[in-house]
Amino acid sequence: MTSENDRELLAQTRRLMRDLYDAYLQTPAWYKKRAIAFAIHGHRCDVCGTTKGPLQVHHRHYRTLGREDPRRDLQVLCRPCHCETHGIEEEARPPSPSKRRRKKRRPEPPVGRLDWLWEQNQKRK
Ligand SMILES: [Zn+2]
Ligand SMILES: [Zn+2]
Repeated sequence: MTSENDRELLAQTRRLMRDLYDAYLQTPAWYKKRAIAFAIHGHRCDVCGTTKGPLQVHHRHYRTLGREDPRRDLQVLCRPCHCETHGIEEEARPPSPSKRRRKKRRPEPPVGRLDWLWEQNQKRK
């Protein structure tokens, strides 16, 4: 198999995963799990401790998608910390003049950013 095929397969897999994840996050099962995650972890960011702003539920990994253990597999994060967790620069944050870099080309997001992506899409709707 050529690397061109590999890339295409990977892109297809990511699209599929994204669709699947998107569908899953519309289900009552997920809403319930999300609520449990908030009940366990509290309405505060697990990283910086803030209780302000939109709090998001982060998947630490996707190995248990659909049968997550909210205590172990999910995490409550504020938006900036969630961005940081996924290595994404907060777009709303004005670029600091000292380290203004050329905007990075946006590659196909890795599967590990699904929940972050989903939150972004929710805002656009
Ligand atoms: Zn935070
Ligand atoms: Zn996340």
